[in-house]
Amino acid sequence: MKLKDKIAVITGAGKGIGKSTAELFLREGAKVVIVSRAKKDLDAFVKSNKKYKDNIIPVTGDISKETVIKNVIKKTIASYKRINILVNNAGFSFFANMVNSKTADFDAMFSTNVRAVYLLTKGFLPYMIKQKEGTIINIASLAGKQGFATGTGYCASKHAVMGLSRALMLEVRQYNIRVIAVCPGTVDTHFFRKESNTTIFADRNTVVKPKDIAETCLFASSLPMNSTVSEIEVRPTNPHK
Ligand code: NAP
Repeated sequence: MKLKDKIAVITGAGKGIGKSTAELFLREGAKVVIVSRAKKDLDAFVKSNKKYKDNIIPVTGDISKETVIKNVIKKTIASYKRINILVNNAGFSFFANMVNSKTADFDAMFSTNVRAVYLLTKGFLPYMIKQKEGTIINIASLAGKQGFATGTGYCASKHAVMGLSRALMLEVRQYNIRVIAVCPGTVDTHFFRKESNTTIFADRNTVVKPKDIAETCLFASSLPMNSTVSEIEVRPTNPHK
């Protein structure tokens, strides 16, 4: 088991990439704190992973709220006194031409996709610094490295995650803390919901699957501690099959 007894906090673990990552981490021996707004998703997660129920702490809440962030940190530290892996995964998009876009949607994306990453990381860092060990995985996106029409707000939020990750990596490596930005292309998840005003442009069978990103997170967090990957782009091997 690659993550035996590691304590991992994973945001947005009710669906998609976060859910797959939490399930894989459990199978690899980690204890997971899983966060999402939908309690029913977290209840379903515990139910379908009954075998590991003693290794799961579900926290329901909206991480764009500072009180929820404080609660996640409090519950993790009260239960385990440490954190080894933080996966900042929760995020969403609203796509629209800028002239038609809503400022409220822009603010909502920044509150979850960027501000929550900053607050949660800032809250957990003192524990990692004290331990002189930690792994922080930020699920950014290829949209954090390039732009596309209708994605001004979302691309800006993911570019911000890249900037935060690159700066923090240089700042905390002296404490054996790894900061890794994972940049997926299109992944077949609930991300492409009706309210986001977009659809998967490619054939669903050809795009990356949540479990592929889970494997990427496992790879990044189980490398020998003396080395790190700092940015990983994940694309379909053959998008034209
Ligand atoms: P998803 O299937 O929609 O899952 C997102 C999860 O995050 C859900 O469990 C959602 O649950 C939770 N969440 C969203 N906002 C939250 C908040 N404020 N507080 C707590 N939980 C919240 O989408 P996904 O594709 O797995 O997305 C995960 C990450 O990957 C995101 O950061 C996304 O930007 C990134 N990404 C996705 C793709 C893609 O093509 N799918 C590509 C590149 C990067 P609730 O709504 O119940 O809270």
